[in-house]
Amino acid sequence: METIYKKVDINEIDLKVLEEAGELLRNGDLVAFPTETVYGLGANALNEQAAAKIYEAKGRPSDNPLIVHVCDEKQVKKVVRSIPDNAKKLMEKFWPGPLTIIFHKADIVPFATTGGLDTVAVRMPDHKVALKLMEVSDMVIAAPSANTSGRPSPTTAMHVKDDLDGKIAMIIDGGEVGIGIESTIVDVTGEIPMILRPGYITRNMLEEVVGQVEIDSAITGPMKEGVKPKAPGMKYKHYAPKADFTIYEGENIRVSQKINERALKCLEEGYKVGIIASDETIANYKYGDVVSIGSRNDELSISKKLYRVLREFDDKNVDYIFGENFESEELGYAIMNRMLKAAGYQVEKV
Ligand code: AMP
Ligand code: MG
Repeated sequence: METIYKKVDINEIDLKVLEEAGELLRNGDLVAFPTETVYGLGANALNEQAAAKIYEAKGRPSDNPLIVHVCDEKQVKKVVRSIPDNAKKLMEKFWPGPLTIIFHKADIVPFATTGGLDTVAVRMPDHKVALKLMEVSDMVIAAPSANTSGRPSPTTAMHVKDDLDGKIAMIIDGGEVGIGIESTIVDVTGEIPMILRPGYITRNMLEEVVGQVEIDSAITGPMKEGVKPKAPGMKYKHYAPKADFTIYEGENIRVSQKINERALKCLEEGYKVGIIASDETIANYKYGDVVSIGSRNDELSISKKLYRVLREFDDKNVDYIFGENFESEELGYAIMNRMLKAAGYQVEKV
């Protein structure tokens, strides 16, 4: 298949491009589009065959459900059975935005979209191109991240092209995304809202709106044998670079020393080494391919660049990645969730 590739200027959206995309979506084809979190791979969420194509193109396990994207309240009502009070409050405060909410699904949503679940994940993205695409196509769009399963999520249209060129009908290039990691997922079907995946919207931000919020145990460490995470996707080794990735925890200066020692040793043994540093620490490193992932004073600069850096290390066939730790109570919590998964929870305290 020849993949159509179209650029759109976010300040002056060419509606013809979106109409063309809408036509493809109506035909049951796949269209990748930008959102504020990462690029999504879209299909008509209410068309079983179209949803099935997403799994095929991504190589995604069929029990890993898709997020349904909407552009207004009318579309939300179409896909959910009811809107609990907590959900109403969260929608009002955070939509459009990087928060996905789990509802009981309406009958119209096929199980192919929900991975066989009786619930449906819904999000209204804060991106003009995405919103306009749903409006123009008059469609709710199922869209997981537009990467090959197991690779870091795409933050540019080029990343999408690298993974899915020839496998999907169209890529809409709307430039680099603003956040760079996937949405926060919160389940409001129980009494106490529960975070199933951390993201830009933090626990504190949610608690200010709905009171106590819990965190699914699947987020806090490696999955234990036999435990079933509430977000099925959390059990897969996501975001994995090809290299052996270790994260170092401790005082910055000691972390840098330790990484320098290990990097030198690996280089002497003939391996390629990539190092994930920050603007504040990059000067500490002497060996290997050293990259600053952003500034510790601006966590958004880090989330925005994380997946790009991991992809670049893949492209360079790096054997070992050594990374600093970016834990915090804000966005750093979600950044570390993704980094720890990428590293297979390989952490060394120094
Ligand atoms: P992606 O869009 O690729 O970031 O993946 C969507 C994520 O949403 C996956 O990790 C799913 O497990 C999660 N998800 C989607 N629908 C549901 C649902 N109904 N219940 C729980 N988690 C869901
Ligand atoms: Mg994904």
